[in-house]
Amino acid sequence: MRRAHPVVGRLRLGLVRHAPPLLKDEPDVLVATRCPACDTPHAWVVGRDTPPPGDQVAHFLTPMHRAWDDVVHTCRNQRLFCSTDCVDTWLQRTGQECGYLMDLGTLWRFAGDWYTGRLEPGYTRRDPASAAAYFAEVGLHGSFWGLPD
Ligand SMILES: [Zn+2]
Repeated sequence: MRRAHPVVGRLRLGLVRHAPPLLKDEPDVLVATRCPACDTPHAWVVGRDTPPPGDQVAHFLTPMHRAWDDVVHTCRNQRLFCSTDCVDTWLQRTGQECGYLMDLGTLWRFAGDWYTGRLEPGYTRRDPASAAAYFAEVGLHGSFWGLPD
């Protein structure tokens, strides 16, 4: 059995989302991060067939219609937390409004095909209509994603 490709360090959610589709030859990746609120370390082996177990939550700060205003800021603020309590603590501490919360299963489905083809020649970013269709398909909803509630 192959060992999970290690991706360790102070990683942001981006790597959870990018790693499995981009590392085509790896069956899974080890992702580790710390809760932005309380610094608790978390690690998951993220594979292609089932979502990683855990009751942690992902919080996306920037709504999709603003995502490209400052894409670095957008990606930096897509983070994994212990719980919604830790999200609340972090929002209070940083003086920010809640964005969008999702569980690991939804995050995993979201990440699944989002970057499919990114390394292929001629890849182009999804247009807004097909992006919205993809968001709906993986279980996201509401104005944050440009979708109905
Ligand atoms: Zn925490």
